[in-house]
This record gives sequence, structure tokens and C-alpha cells, in this order.
Amino acid sequence: MISPLIPTYARKDVAFARGEGAYLYDADGRRYLDFGAGIAVTALGHCHPRLVAALTDQAERLWHCSNMYHIPGQERLARRLVDATFADSVFFTNSGAEAVECGLKMVRRYHDTTGNPERYRIVACRNAFHGRTLATIAAGGQDKHLDGFDPVVDGFDHVAFGNLNELGAAITPETAAILVEPVQGEGGIHAASADYLRGLRRIADEYGLLLFFDEIQCGMGRTGRLFAHEWAGIAPDVMAVAKGLGGGFPVGACLATERAASALTPGSHGTTYGGNPLAMAVANAVLDEVLADGFLDRVEAVAAVLWGRLEALVADHPGVFEEVRGSGLMVGLKCVADNQAMVRTLLENGLLVVAAADNVIRLLPPLVIDESHVSEALDILERACADLEATEATA
Ligand SMILES: *Cc1c(COP(=O)(O)O)cnc(C)c1O
Repeated sequence: MISPLIPTYARKDVAFARGEGAYLYDADGRRYLDFGAGIAVTALGHCHPRLVAALTDQAERLWHCSNMYHIPGQERLARRLVDATFADSVFFTNSGAEAVECGLKMVRRYHDTTGNPERYRIVACRNAFHGRTLATIAAGGQDKHLDGFDPVVDGFDHVAFGNLNELGAAITPETAAILVEPVQGEGGIHAASADYLRGLRRIADEYGLLLFFDEIQCGMGRTGRLFAHEWAGIAPDVMAVAKGLGGGFPVGACLATERAASALTPGSHGTTYGGNPLAMAVANAVLDEVLADGFLDRVEAVAAVLWGRLEALVADHPGVFEEVRGSGLMVGLKCVADNQAMVRTLLENGLLVVAAADNVIRLLPPLVIDESHVSEALDILERACADLEATEATA
């Protein structure tokens, strides 16, 4: 018999009762070091006092207000995101998929309103992930997400991530935009090179395309810059943001240049909850922390410590891990054996990580960890490696 919850997840056998900083606790009080952060969501750790205060303070004043009215928290957050990025204008959503969807609609309407309605196709990458709506699974182009949901939404052409030649060859007079994750998350933690991102900008300019980055997982400080594309010194025309933006409160945003954003006029797009006062209060508080002096420097510094330790781990245990890759605190460890088994072993040992494609486990710790958390995580990883090697030796 089906469970009351539609079984779309193969859930691990654990439920958490409370969280504090980098730790989660189950109902029995057992403590777990959370290096998954709800898939790069709880960027400031669990129940950060400033976020709790912002949320409860807002909850006592006003929860919901339609986008038919001005929402001061939205205006403030949009202004701050505009000031901190390439963007001139922002649309708020409840989720990442909706932020991508907004960008997809913007791209089509941009070409429509500038006299090129035939330009509607988007070149995206294989192994990409852009969400689970009909349009965003089409954008992701992965069979495992598309299976059973035909007909696939039209308008997406897929090329290999990192290959500018293949991308250039896929452009036709119908192409409207290029959609890329600067660091692929679900696809197995593949960081684009700066040259690749610069090449995308060059090709977009050459063919009059909009460049659309999905920074839902890699943005909001995760790589040590506010947004991952900043490392390449170029900017997109459109960008989807979510996950870390709300630190655990559901919120997303589609950021765009004036040129692109002007395509969305009154009535052309909308949302009931997007930019809700509760979400805005929390996201503004997240931004207070992430934009504070020294925050991103500390992310870079602790990431360097983590990378040093992980490189040593991989070198010491070539039978368990093949490689460490990624950027900043968005790290992938490619496993020799089954990554799901590794996720379970680490869970049993009190460390939460997330599986990704290509037999990778993802380490996406809160951005506020310090060296003691790195040491604790590495102790657990070392123990798991030693246990695995011991079992193999006796087998
Ligand atoms: C998580 C994610 C999404 C989808 O976000 P939801 O909030 O689950 O809709 C889209 N793109 C990337 C890169 C993501 O990591």
C-alpha cells in the first residue's frame, strides 16, 4: 500500500528534531555534523540567531501581502542584490525552479519584443540540473528526470559542459540564449573553467544571445565569491538564485540586466507568494551576513583548509576516493565504490553529505564552519576509509 507521502524520495532512516549551527540532532539527541546543509541551503547553519530574530520579528507584524501592493522588504532586497551584482532588476520566487522558469520566459519574451520571435531555443548542457517543472526538466535534459513525462517541452538543445566548440556548433538562427551552471551540482560537481565562462560570454555577444547562469547551488558565497561567475571576471544577462539566499526559508530570485528584464512588463509574469514578507525579512538578514566585511574571505580561507585535508585524504585512500573537485565550499569526492553506500556509512558515523551523479559525494557545509568542523568531518571520513579498507582486506 502506498504511504500517505507520495514516495518520490528513497529516504534515509533518520529524522531530525532540531538544528544548531553546523549540527543536526535526532529525537534521541544524537548529533550529526551537517555537511549537506539541506543541499547548500542552510548557508549560515541551522537556526542562526539573526535569521531567527528576523523571521520572528516579521512574523509578529505581517506574513503575507499580495504583489498587487508594494512590499518594502522586496524593494530593499532587490536594491541590495542590484548593488552587489551585474543585475539591474530582480523578480522574487519561492523556489529555484521558478527562478529558472522566470529566466526562461524572460529570454523568450526578450527576443519576441525585440523583433525576433523565431528565436526561442536555448542551448543548455548535458548533465545539467535546473529544477523539476516541465520546462526545467527539459532544460536539464536528463533522461532520468524526463522519463514518463513526454512530450518534452520544446526549445532546448544540449551540448557537453565545458566544450565551446560543440556549443558554438549548436547555435542556429532560432537560438535565444545559453543556460549554464557555473559549477554543476547535481551533475557531479563540475566547475567551469574561467576560460569556458569567458568563451560563453564571447559567443553570446557574437550571436546576440542572452547568457543565463543558474547559480542556485553555487551562488550566495558558496565558492568564496558572492557568485561563482565573478571568478571569471564576466557577467551573465540573466541569473537564477535560490537555496542559500533564504538560508532555509523558501525563496528564489531571477536577476537580470535592464535589457533582459525589460521584456517582462505588467501582467506578463506573476506569483502569489514570491517575495513574501517573511522570505524577504530572512533573505535580507542572510545578505547582512554574507555581505559583511570578511565573510567571503573566511569562506575562502576555510575552504583552503578543507581542500588541503581532502587532497591528503584522497592521496592516502586511493582505493576509496578517486578525486576531489569543485570550488570553495562546493566540493565533490568521486568514490571508487558506490557513492550511496558511502553516504550511508558517513551518516552512520554522524556526518551528513549528499550524493550526486557520476558516483560523487558532495560536501556542501554551511559557509560559517571553522577549522574544528573540518577536522571533525575529516576524522569521520578517515574512519570510514579505514573501515572500508579493513572490510576489503578481510573479504
Ligand atoms: C536545486 C537546484 C535547482 C532547483 O531548485 P528548487 O528550489 O528545488 O526548485 C535548480 N538549479 C540548480 C543548479 C539547483 O541546484
